[in-house]
Amino acid sequence: MFQDALIKLKEQVKDSAILSGRAFNDIEIIAVTKTRTLEEMKAVAKLGLTSFGENKVQELQSKYNDFDENINWHLIGHLQRNKVKYIIDKVSLIHSVDSLRLAETISLEAKKQNIVARILVQVNVANEDTKFGIKISEAEAFIKEIGLLQNIKVEGLMTIAPYTLYPEENRKYFRALKQLSVDINKQRLDNISMNILSMGMTNDFQVAIEEGATMIRVGTGIFGERDY
Ligand SMILES: *Cc1c(COP(=O)(O)O)cnc(C)c1O
Repeated sequence: MFQDALIKLKEQVKDSAILSGRAFNDIEIIAVTKTRTLEEMKAVAKLGLTSFGENKVQELQSKYNDFDENINWHLIGHLQRNKVKYIIDKVSLIHSVDSLRLAETISLEAKKQNIVARILVQVNVANEDTKFGIKISEAEAFIKEIGLLQNIKVEGLMTIAPYTLYPEENRKYFRALKQLSVDINKQRLDNISMNILSMGMTNDFQVAIEEGATMIRVGTGIFGERDY
């Protein structure tokens, strides 16, 4: 199960990594596991994909105990402040920080657990009304502000590009997110690193890697079409 898809995916990741002057190992594949069964997830873990991305807190919580500590859980969907406490000790990275109040809550809950929460700032690069995320023009000020919070560490940026059948259309958005990370990095801000760029999904991950993605979030390209 999934072996052929994974072989193909890895080849494509490698090709795109080389096009951008990097190697396969420079790109982390997050298997997006929303709606997938435990059996499907275990099959994929067995094949060596041990980073899982869930977009709902409840689903992550309900699956979490069925796996051991070898799995890295990523919260990739919109996060409500009242749910932070349920996942703060379970996830290795929160991709979707999009408000100061959310960042403050994460820092507070992390403090209670005596941990530092690793987070990405979600940027709405294409300015879509339907998507969460900070505007590019506001990202720098926002990041400076949340960098002051004690129990979070900003590791980079994340974006969800518009849905399109033509991945080339998203190249400009991926390029803009990369440029933003370069601009922020130049300022050498305390507590802010721009090492991670989480961008690219099944339809457009190759273009995203070519433009500098270090993490791609792939669901359909591994598991097949989702059945909601
Ligand atoms: C579902 C989802 C993905 C994966 O989408 P696919 O097109 O199935 O690869 C990636 N990122 C986020 C935030 C998602 O919700």
